[in-house]
Amino acid sequence: MSFVAALLIILALVVIVILVVAIRTILFTRSAEPRPLPFPASLPEPEIDPLEPAQHLSAAIQIDTVSHENPEDDDHGKFAELHHLLENTYPLLHNHLTREVLEGGSLLYTWRGQDETLEPVLFMAHQDVVPVDEHTREKWTYPPFSGAIADGFIWGRGAMDIKCQLIGVMEAVEHLLNAGFKPPRTVYLAFGHDEEVLGLGAPRIVDRLKERGVRLHAVIDEGTAVLDGVLPGIRGLTAAIAVTEKGYLSLRLTAESEGGHSSTPSSETSIGIISRAIHRLQSNPFPHKLKAVQPMFKAFIPAASPLMKVAFANLWLFGGLVRQKLSALPETAASIHTTTAPTILRGGIKENVLPSLAEAVVNFRILPGETIAEVIERVRMVIDDERVKVTPISTSAWEPSPVSSSDCPAYHHITTVTRELYPGTTCAPNAMLGATDSRHYHAISDRVYRFTPIISRKNDLSRIHGINERLSVENMHKMVLFFYRLIQRWASIVEE
Ligand SMILES: [Zn+2]
Repeated sequence: MSFVAALLIILALVVIVILVVAIRTILFTRSAEPRPLPFPASLPEPEIDPLEPAQHLSAAIQIDTVSHENPEDDDHGKFAELHHLLENTYPLLHNHLTREVLEGGSLLYTWRGQDETLEPVLFMAHQDVVPVDEHTREKWTYPPFSGAIADGFIWGRGAMDIKCQLIGVMEAVEHLLNAGFKPPRTVYLAFGHDEEVLGLGAPRIVDRLKERGVRLHAVIDEGTAVLDGVLPGIRGLTAAIAVTEKGYLSLRLTAESEGGHSSTPSSETSIGIISRAIHRLQSNPFPHKLKAVQPMFKAFIPAASPLMKVAFANLWLFGGLVRQKLSALPETAASIHTTTAPTILRGGIKENVLPSLAEAVVNFRILPGETIAEVIERVRMVIDDERVKVTPISTSAWEPSPVSSSDCPAYHHITTVTRELYPGTTCAPNAMLGATDSRHYHAISDRVYRFTPIISRKNDLSRIHGINERLSVENMHKMVLFFYRLIQRWASIVEE
C-alpha cells in the first residue's frame, strides 16, 4: 500500500469517527426534552408570609429530637413535645386527618380521599435529628438548637435534615384544607422518629399499611436538593430526583493468631493479617460503571457544557475520560460504584502482648444492579487469605432498592412543580447514595422517590450532620409551595 493510500484510509477513519460522534451527539441531545405535565385544576396560590413557616421550623428545631442507637436512650418526652407543637400549629390538619402514633414516636396521618378505590399517595419526612458533636458546639454561629432566625436563615440541627420537609408537608396540608381542597386519592403523611439510627419506625408504618391491604400509587421522601453549581461541567440549577437508593452491607473481618510475648513474634500477627486485608480491599475498589448514571447524563444534556455533551453522547469513545473525571471526587465516584469504607478496627490488649484476635468492620454501599452476595464473593476473592473470616453483620444489610419509573405522571409532576418554582432547572433521575426510610416502602409501592425541594450550594452540603446547619427563609417558603402544588397533583392522578 502506498503512503498516500494509507493516509487516505486514516483520514477516512477520522472523518467517520467525527461523523459518528456528531450524529450521536445530535440524537442524544434531541431525546432529552423535558416533559411538563399540565394541571388545570390547581387551586390559587395561598398568601403566605415567608416568616410564618420559618417560625414553625424554628420552633421544631428548638425541640432536640435526637435519636440514639439504643432506643432506650431516646427522650420520648421530646417527641411528645414535638407532636404537641404540631397539634397546636396545624389545627385544621389535626381536625381533618386521623393520626396514629407507632413505635413510641413515629406518626402516620390519614387524609381520606373521595375515591377509596384509587391507590393512596404518601408524603414522608423524619422527626429525629443527629446529635451535635460536643467538640464543635463552639463553632456554631448560633447555638445548634436555638432555631435562630437571622441573616435570612433558620439556624439549627434539623433545618436541612429534615425538619424542613416535615414542616413543609404539614404547612402545605394546612393551607390546602384552608382552601377547601378535597383529595380524590387518600393522602398519607408518614414521619418516622428513628431514621438516623436505621430504626423501626418506618418499617412499622409500612407493616401497618400492609395489614390494611394498602398499595400506594407513589411515595416521596427526603432526598437530593436542587443543586446550584455543584456538579462539574453542568450549568445552572439541577435537580436529581432519586428513583432508587444504594444497598447497604457491613462485613466483619476477623483474624486469629498465636498470642504470646511480643519479644518473640511470628512473622505476622492477627493485626498484620487484618491490615493487609483492608489494604487489599482499598487498593482494589469495585469497578466504576457509567451505566448507572447514563439516564442522569441523558437528562442533564440541556445543561451540559458543549464538551460534556459530546462526551456524554459518546461514552464508547470518551468513557475512560468521563470515568476518570467522575472517580476523582468522592461524591461523584460513589455514584458509579459500590463503595468500600473500613469503619472500625480492633485488636490487641497490651503493648507487649501479641494479639490473638483482630477484627475490622467494612461498610459497603452497593450500586443498584449489584447484590449483597456478589459483594461478599468479591471481598473474599480480593482478600484472598483463608485466615481472614468474612461475616456479614446481618442487622445492617439490605439490597439496593428497585428502580422507580422516571416516565410516569408521579415523576413528571415532581419535575414540573420543581421547574415551576425554580425556572430553568434541569431534572434528572439518579440513585440516592445514603440510606433513607423510604427503602421500606418498595414493599407496598412501585414508585418511591427521594427529593428535597430546596436550593443547595456547594458549601451547604457539609452543613448536613455538620456545623452551622441552616436553611434560608426563602427555601422554607418555596418548600411549602412545592408541597402545596405536589399534593394536589399527586392526589388527583387519574392514570394508573
Ligand atoms: Zn434525613
